[in-house]
Amino acid sequence: MTEHPHGEQDPALDPRATELAQRLTAVRKRIAAAAESAGRSDRPPSLIVVTKFHPAADIRRLATLGVTDVGENRDQEAAAKSAELAGLALNWHFVGQLQSKKAKSVVRYAAAVHSVDRLQLVDALAKAVRNEMDAAGRAPLDCFIQVSLEDDGGTHRGGADPADVPLLAERMAGSIGLHLAGVMAVAPLGAPPEPAFEKLAAISARLVADHPGAAAISAGMSQDLEAAVKFGATHLRIGSDILGSRPVVG
Ligand SMILES: *Cc1c(COP(=O)(O)O)cnc(C)c1O
Repeated sequence: MTEHPHGEQDPALDPRATELAQRLTAVRKRIAAAAESAGRSDRPPSLIVVTKFHPAADIRRLATLGVTDVGENRDQEAAAKSAELAGLALNWHFVGQLQSKKAKSVVRYAAAVHSVDRLQLVDALAKAVRNEMDAAGRAPLDCFIQVSLEDDGGTHRGGADPADVPLLAERMAGSIGLHLAGVMAVAPLGAPPEPAFEKLAAISARLVADHPGAAAISAGMSQDLEAAVKFGATHLRIGSDILGSRPVVG
């Protein structure tokens, strides 16, 4: 018998758990199908469930369903949820725009930051993570360089200019406590995702030529995961197709 110390974790008593289980299964099937058509069933991408705006209770339900990696985009919310769920073996991924002054807080709970897009933030994270390694014995922080894929060179959805990737990568690779994992991007709004993810794959290939260990590609959200898998995504960040639309918070 499985114990359900919190009644809400028993699917029979908890419609939300049933709903999450069904949605998660549907997304896992989409990922498996996409990996199969990309000829990479042997190297499927890993799934990060983006839980922003949804309560810690939902993350608890997801952990029961086998989810190990969750993503958040606001430090205050992520810090509170990770503290509440400290007993669960979860990897926390920070995926949102990050102010340097929040680095100290983020390295207390995050295994990875996907949104590193400027030198000042590299330096702030490096300093914060070294302190946390000394004080609390934490592991190095996985860092993804977020690049902008917008054709006009704009950064409406965040990210560094692709031309700045080599400099950011050098700085990260030279920082004790930071592990350069690879690149991350969000597909531009209102444009087909495939050309954008194809561009990201090329940026990744150039990075890997200089940094063979930095082969991760964090790309693909609810609307475009198939395109991302086709172009080599290793980490998918899926929110609304698993959790439903985000509650409006006042
Ligand atoms: C919210 C968010 C996601 C998840 O998006 P969905 O469309 O809900 O799947 C992925 N990446 C980032 C950076 C996000 O902010």
